[in-house]
Amino acid sequence: MARVNDHYLKLAAGYLFPEITRRVNAFGEANPSADVIKLGIGDVVLPLSSAVGQAMHDAIDEMATSDGFRGYGPSEGYDFLREAIAENDFGSRGVRIDPSEIYASDGSKCDSANIQEIFAEEATLAVSDPVYPVYVDTNVMAGRTGDPDDGGRYGGIQYLPCTEESGFMPSLPDEPVDLIYLCSPNNPTGTVAPKEELLKWVDWARANDSIILFDAAYERFITEDLPHSIYEIEGARECAIEFRSFSKTAGFTGIRCAYIVIPKELQGKDSEGVSVPISQLWGRRTNTKFNGISYPVQRGAEAIYSEAGAKEVQANIDYYLANAALIKNGLSKAGFTTFGGVNAPYVWLKTPGGKDSWQFFDELLEKANVVGTPGSGFGSCGEGYFRLSAFGFREKVEEAIERITTGF
Ligand SMILES: *Cc1c(COP(=O)(O)O)cnc(C)c1O
Repeated sequence: MARVNDHYLKLAAGYLFPEITRRVNAFGEANPSADVIKLGIGDVVLPLSSAVGQAMHDAIDEMATSDGFRGYGPSEGYDFLREAIAENDFGSRGVRIDPSEIYASDGSKCDSANIQEIFAEEATLAVSDPVYPVYVDTNVMAGRTGDPDDGGRYGGIQYLPCTEESGFMPSLPDEPVDLIYLCSPNNPTGTVAPKEELLKWVDWARANDSIILFDAAYERFITEDLPHSIYEIEGARECAIEFRSFSKTAGFTGIRCAYIVIPKELQGKDSEGVSVPISQLWGRRTNTKFNGISYPVQRGAEAIYSEAGAKEVQANIDYYLANAALIKNGLSKAGFTTFGGVNAPYVWLKTPGGKDSWQFFDELLEKANVVGTPGSGFGSCGEGYFRLSAFGFREKVEEAIERITTGF
């Protein structure tokens, strides 16, 4: 038999969402008439903007003509998309990003999962706790960690607690590390790092020769005066990579389009201590392992920057943010302690009565027939917390909140 990658076997602790599905299915079988409302998994529900749909149709029609046909495109994405991104997502906020520093992809899950492979096997890392599981699991698979302890923490990773006292901002690592994963607006806590906080991280990363891997998948949900990009912080071009996705921004979870930004200045070092531009390695990886995302998808993504597309995309974001406000205000009135939900589509709540996250999950499912996500599934500091997602239809969100506030 062929030898398998043993590191995968360390992941035995399992993945959060299959366990949720298992419990929801068991509940559904035992209670076939229950109308279960799901505010668990972070997936969008509203249809694509019609400007995006039209652009994709047009691109397909174009491809079905001999003049408009295109085969393989550039692995990093077409210039029209990279230029639109540079101008609209960065230039408009006074941030200088060159289109050549942008690499379009089929998702931030893949980007944030794949980025680790251009770093040394012995590269060290720090993650916040709670955390988006992808950052950790992909480093486990790559063999950068030991086995998990009883609390699910892997040896060799520095976990940075995000607690209520610190406003759910991660503390700085105790020791220097090569890679730091940060996510703002944060999934799962719904909190956003203010400028001073990011400045502290950029200074620390530069002083310690670390690279910040900054996941900004939810930047469109920011309503207050807070940074949308790590590159709004001086010095970040020398120490940070940024991930952006059209998934939550424009309902692309089923279409698939995202991008990663690697500034020209960003350097790593080889085993001899010689500087190597990170963009050189990522460019090489992209060209070896990827043939780009489809032309119609890239035209669809470009359309979110058109006048009509931008309006429609904003209307959907506003819809979700209004859901988040309903959840947050409803729960607060009912006496729950809540966080997030203002600049993010997630509300993070403290489980009442000292219940643990899974106890609250079961109780919410049984009493209110509402599904959320146990905070402990994102890390041990998530224990005693619970995530509710604003990605739902308004009527369902209203109904869920009504049930939670009357049933507890
Ligand atoms: C949803 C999400 C993404 C986006 O993933 P895609 O693969 O682009 O759909 C990235 N990071 C976080 C933290 C997310 O929650």
